[in-house]
Amino acid sequence: MFPVVMPTYARADVAFEKGEGAYLWAEDGRRFLDFGSGVAVTALGHCHPRLVAALTAQAGRVWHTSNMYRIPGQERVAAKLVEHSFADSVFFCNSGAEAMECCLKIARKYHDESGRPERYRVICANGAFHGRTLATIAAGGQEKHLKGFAPVMDGFDHVPYGNLNALRDAIGAETAAILVEPVQGEGGIVRGDPDYLRRLRATADEFGLLLIFDEVQTGIGRTGRLFAYQHLDVAPDVMAVAKGLGGGFPVGACLATEAAARCLTPGSHGSTFGGNPLAMAAAEAVLDTVTEPGFLDRVNHVAASLRTGLETLQARHPAVIEEVRGQGLMLGLKCGAVENIALMRRLFDAGLLTVAAGDNVVRLLPPLIIGETETTQALDILAGVLADLDGARS
Ligand SMILES: *Cc1c(COP(=O)(O)O)cnc(C)c1O
Repeated sequence: MFPVVMPTYARADVAFEKGEGAYLWAEDGRRFLDFGSGVAVTALGHCHPRLVAALTAQAGRVWHTSNMYRIPGQERVAAKLVEHSFADSVFFCNSGAEAMECCLKIARKYHDESGRPERYRVICANGAFHGRTLATIAAGGQEKHLKGFAPVMDGFDHVPYGNLNALRDAIGAETAAILVEPVQGEGGIVRGDPDYLRRLRATADEFGLLLIFDEVQTGIGRTGRLFAYQHLDVAPDVMAVAKGLGGGFPVGACLATEAAARCLTPGSHGSTFGGNPLAMAAAEAVLDTVTEPGFLDRVNHVAASLRTGLETLQARHPAVIEEVRGQGLMLGLKCGAVENIALMRRLFDAGLLTVAAGDNVVRLLPPLIIGETETTQALDILAGVLADLDGARS
């Protein structure tokens, strides 16, 4: 019989019924250490008491009113995002792709309002991922996501990630914006060189373009700062955030400077669900926690110790793991003599959840609340699996 749930995913045959902190329990009782966080989403782990309290309290008051009315939670969350970022203004939606759509619509409308409607093209990077809508698969430019969905939406040019000359050569009279992920996630945890990212800012300014950062995966403390651009001394004009923002509740946001956001007027963009009271209760609790003094210091501390452990394992098994990549708790193991999917399965069988990425990489995206206990356990599981794999090779 045809599956009642459309067959768009290659799912592992496991279902979880309970989560607490960095752990998930399957229906059959098996316990897993969750270093995937539902793809960088459950930033505070599962059932964080503060999130549970915020969401259940809001659930007893009001869930949804629509954006026809003021939503005080939106005003508070937006104010906090503005306080902690370059942005002056925020639009709320429900996913990363929608946050990106808002960024892309701003890129076009900004120039239209400035009297240069011919500027609509966005320069994107090879290996990028921006979502699965028609516009965002065009922005991502990956054959595997575009195949069968022609015609590809017009308006996106692709250049090698990290190559400033190629990017500058691609700028034309119709270019509106530059769009990159500060660290490419789905592409295989590829870190943008800080100097390259800084020069993108200068290039955007030189040509009057908007600089858009997709921080859907890197945002909300994942790289050790609230946003990855904060490791640099420059900021984008427009930025997409989602994944970690709701800690597991679906919510996305497009952050922008006043100059960029000014082009949006009542009726120009919208979302029925976007920023509803439930989503805002979750996002506010996440933001309040991640921005508490000391929280990101602890993330950086545990990230450094996890990375050291991974590098030790890499040095011990250089044929299986060629490289440890990434920043903060957004880490990638570049696989050599083994397929990332095969390593992932072995780790799964040993009780550790990870996420695959492009370029034969296994991603480690643990919740930001992990401590030495979880780090040590993950490294122990990895050590065992890598020793097995290496033993089987020789
Ligand atoms: C996951 C992701 C998206 C898409 O987010 P969805 O919520 O799946 O629509 C966009 N950009 C980046 C960088 C992502 O990692």
